[in-house]
Amino acid sequence: MNLTSNSASFKISPRKAKKRLGQHFLRDKGVIAKIIDLAAPAAGETVLEIGPGEGVLTEALLARDAHVIAVETDKDLWQPLTERFSLPPDSERPVNFHLEKGDFLKLDLDKLFLQDLQLSTPVAVVANIPYQITTPILFRLIKYRHLFSRAILMMQEEVAVRLLAAPGGRDYGRLTVGVGTHCDINPGFKVAPGSFSPPPKVWSRVLRFEFLAQPRYKITDQALFDRLLLALFSQRRKQIINPLKGILTNLKRDEICEKLVAAGFAPDARPATLTPEEMIRLADCVGQWAKKSCKL
Ligand code: SAH
Repeated sequence: MNLTSNSASFKISPRKAKKRLGQHFLRDKGVIAKIIDLAAPAAGETVLEIGPGEGVLTEALLARDAHVIAVETDKDLWQPLTERFSLPPDSERPVNFHLEKGDFLKLDLDKLFLQDLQLSTPVAVVANIPYQITTPILFRLIKYRHLFSRAILMMQEEVAVRLLAAPGGRDYGRLTVGVGTHCDINPGFKVAPGSFSPPPKVWSRVLRFEFLAQPRYKITDQALFDRLLLALFSQRRKQIINPLKGILTNLKRDEICEKLVAAGFAPDARPATLTPEEMIRLADCVGQWAKKSCKL
C-alpha cells in the first residue's frame, strides 16, 4: 500500500506541539519499527491507537494491513489525519482507518467497538500515549480488558519501573498491583529522549501487556479491592492498621488488630510489603468484617 504519498506535506513544527496534551512526536524510524515488531499485528487485525498525533505509528500499522481505530483529542490534527489516511472515494480497498474525535478517557469503548463499529474483539492497542495521563489510561484499559488482547504502550521509564516493581520496594504501589493482577508485562525496550520531537525531559520505555482472561488471583469484589488499594497506598509509610481503621468504622482498633492477627496479617506491616495475592485476601477479609454502615 502506498501510504507515504500524502505524507510529504504533513509536518508539524516542534514549537507547535501542545505541552498540555503531552505531544512528543516520534521521529526515530528504528523505534517505530521496533514497536511494530513487538506488537506483531496480524494482517486484518484491528488495532486501537490512543493519540495518533501526526500519524507515524498509524502509517506503520496500516502498512502491515492492520485496521486502525485512532482516538485523537486535538482538533488541529483531525483534518490532517483524515486527509492523510482516508482512501479516495473511488478506491476499491476496504476502509481500514477510523478516526474517533475526542478524549480517550471519556469514551464508552463498549459502545464504540461493539455497537457503533461492530468490531469483532479482542483488539490490540498500540500507542505512544500522552504521559501525563498514563495511569488513567492504564486503569481504563483494565476496566475494558474484555475488549483487548494486548497493549504495546510507550510511557515514561519511571512509570514502567513502577509497573514492573517487586513487593517491598519504593516503586511498588497501586499501579503495580492494580495492573499486574490483570496483565503479564513484558519489559520491552528503553527509548531515548532524542527519538521524539520535541524531546521529553525523561527516558521512555515501550512495554507489552498481555491481558489475562481471568485476574491472576480471584478478586471477589473489584470495587472493594480498588478502594483498599487506594487506602493502603495513599498511606504507604503507615502500618496497615491505620488505613484499615478508616475503612472499618464499625470496629475498634484493638478488634481490627485481633482479626488481622487471626487471619495471619501483621497489623504493623507496611502496605508495600504485601504481595498482590495478600492484598486480595485482605480485601476479602475486610469485606467480611465490614458492616453496611462502613465506608466501603
Ligand atoms: N502517537 C504520536 C503522538 C504521540 S504524542 C507519535 O508517536 O508521534 C500524544 C498524542 O496524544 C498527541 O497527539 C495528543 O494530542 C494526544 N492526546 C492527548 N490527550 C489525549 C486524550 N485524552 N485522548 C486522545 N488523545 C490524546
